[in-house]
Amino acid sequence: MKKILTLLSFILLFSCSKGQEYKIPVYGWLGGPGESTDEELKDQFTNLKNKGIDGLMYNGGQNPETYRRVGKIAKDAGLEFHTWIPTMVQGNNPKLQPDWYAINGKGESAFDKPAYVDYYKFLCPNREEVYQFLANMYGAVADIAEVDGIHLDYIRFPDVILARGLWDKYGLVMDREYPEYDYCYCDHCVGDFKEKTGIDIKSAEDPSQIQEWKQFRYDLITSIVNRLADEIHKKGKKINAAVFPGPNSIAKHLVRQEWDKWNLDAVFPMNYNDFYLEDPEWVGDVTKEGVTAIGNKIPLYSGLFICPKPENKTKENDPENHGLLPGEIGTAIRASMENGAAGICLFTPSRMTEEHWVEFDKAIRIDYSSK
Ligand SMILES: [Zn+2]
Repeated sequence: MKKILTLLSFILLFSCSKGQEYKIPVYGWLGGPGESTDEELKDQFTNLKNKGIDGLMYNGGQNPETYRRVGKIAKDAGLEFHTWIPTMVQGNNPKLQPDWYAINGKGESAFDKPAYVDYYKFLCPNREEVYQFLANMYGAVADIAEVDGIHLDYIRFPDVILARGLWDKYGLVMDREYPEYDYCYCDHCVGDFKEKTGIDIKSAEDPSQIQEWKQFRYDLITSIVNRLADEIHKKGKKINAAVFPGPNSIAKHLVRQEWDKWNLDAVFPMNYNDFYLEDPEWVGDVTKEGVTAIGNKIPLYSGLFICPKPENKTKENDPENHGLLPGEIGTAIRASMENGAAGICLFTPSRMTEEHWVEFDKAIRIDYSSK
């Protein structure tokens, strides 16, 4: 009897102490390794682990060997390791032909005349050669033992409408879809759409009013994701993606991502409220929308955009330097978790100030499911 009581009290003690250690799952988007030595990476990763980060979405180019080296150090530090590599945006590369890039409604190529910014070189999602390039590139990375998963980003069309908070930065009023930001009108896309629907999209007065044309392009992205998912799953690895908030309120309208139809292991919506001129409570609204859309089939990690210089936020015009203040991060975490997120993902741990970490530490140790 005494033995049983001892055992019982041990179990009780164990479960209590476990309760105190409760923490929500946290990921972080991180770039590197640059010139960092192994020792420096080890310090960086150990520090992040101690602060409450469970896994990295790590951007280190396309060379699998980089991920072998960095992944080993991340795993030794106790972190999950996912490789964060852009999908449809690809810079000059001898493996890619200029005519594989997307064409806008004015006939201009994203290869030599990208929209908004120089790096917006989007590929056409309707070229088999493009898919094969992506499958080979991600496949080689997924073959690395240290890699837990492939994290897709820029898995979309260029923004046909920019987030509201970016209009001033680019001096644009995006009250409707304009041809210079609307893709892809290459011969493959126009021809396949005509064959499928009988509609000649080039002769349409306002292509934005044609629902089939929108769906055709959602489906092109969905098809790439689901084919890549099969490929990566065959290798026994996970696959997930950074996506726009929604999917219905924003992702489909702005960048043609119908991500509730993607066969991923997790989604990471970039719930960056400042880009949409919204407050931190809005993060909860879009989290709820996303969780509802995917029917709770896969985990959704709410992506949070951190303000790197909180003291400058009100004077700063560039939304890229906005983001959650230390006083707002707890609200965004709570709103995410209370609305069904499985955890959060920071953009980025490097943008976090000491004050952010203090507020973060309080917020991640609350069990929101019991509220
Ligand atoms: Zn095309």
